[in-house]
Amino acid sequence: VKKRGRGDYQLFAERMKSDTGNVLLIETGLRRAIENRELRLAYQPQIDLRSREPISFEVLVRWEPANLPAISPAEFIPVAEESGLIIPLGEWILEEAMKQLYTWKQEGLPEAVLAINLSAKQFMQPYLVEMIQSLMLTYEVQPAQIELEITEGALTNPDEAYEMIRRLKDLGLSISIDDFGTGYSSLTYLKRFPIDSLKIDQSFVKDLLLDEQNRAITTTILHLAQSLGLRVVAEGVETKEQLLFLEENGCQIGQGFYFDSPLSASEIQQTYLRKKEY
Ligand code: C2E
Ligand code: CA
Ligand code: CA
Ligand code: CA
Repeated sequence: VKKRGRGDYQLFAERMKSDTGNVLLIETGLRRAIENRELRLAYQPQIDLRSREPISFEVLVRWEPANLPAISPAEFIPVAEESGLIIPLGEWILEEAMKQLYTWKQEGLPEAVLAINLSAKQFMQPYLVEMIQSLMLTYEVQPAQIELEITEGALTNPDEAYEMIRRLKDLGLSISIDDFGTGYSSLTYLKRFPIDSLKIDQSFVKDLLLDEQNRAITTTILHLAQSLGLRVVAEGVETKEQLLFLEENGCQIGQGFYFDSPLSASEIQQTYLRKKEY
């Protein structure tokens, strides 16, 4: 017989592990999580490979229900996207990220740049630009402090996507294509759209030294980006060997456990933003 009180949650946790009823449970749980403040943001450094300094931090949402193991965003973001919850969740993430920039500014720390993920549905909401603009105003965030990561899936309606990217660029934000090479296959948008960088998906970076095909794909992306004048971020860099290969092939920015894992805001502050002493 299950104990009262925690029983619901235990059942919840068990069902989360199986697939049956998963979607519905994530949806109800996530709704509650937003209200109960069980979500927080983590920040992973993106390292300039020449200076070895972080040039930005990717914002990654974390869901840690009380007394339960964390639930991966790889699991709950698609459900949030499916159910429409991504709209309030995405707005919460944007506001929380800008609030953090404001806090750091109040503490006199050097200006940080945040790379924020936008899901396809979030990217297509009509008032996205106004929302971002008003958050930037409220939290005194400079355009150069915000980079938006979108996936190729957000570009399936090219005309609308083009218009949205142009409006965000007009605000002065940077746009980066996430998980590059894993989605929508037409490359014409690279020529047409005013984007700033590509992120090589970690599935290509993984086994870079063992897998000849991954090596071929990675070098091709790097050459393509170079000739189009785009910056490249390699994600999932875990070893020195991967790093050396990427550097030799002209990659400018690296992100991954080799440098650091996603950290809490206060860890970022202590490790990376600490006031320089004169
Ligand atoms: P992503 O945008 O491709 O994020 C990179 C993922 O790789 C993160 O997983 C990060 O923790 C993980 N990672 C970082 N370094 C390494 C490494 O060296 N090796 C390996 N194997 N993995 C590494 P995470 O945080 O679990 O996020 C998974 C996915 O969930 C993200 O993939 C993104 O698609 C989505 N996601 C996370 N946070 C957000 C968010 O705030 N908004 C939206 N829309 N999606 C988010
Ligand atoms: Ca990303
Ligand atoms: Ca990615
Ligand atoms: Ca990914």
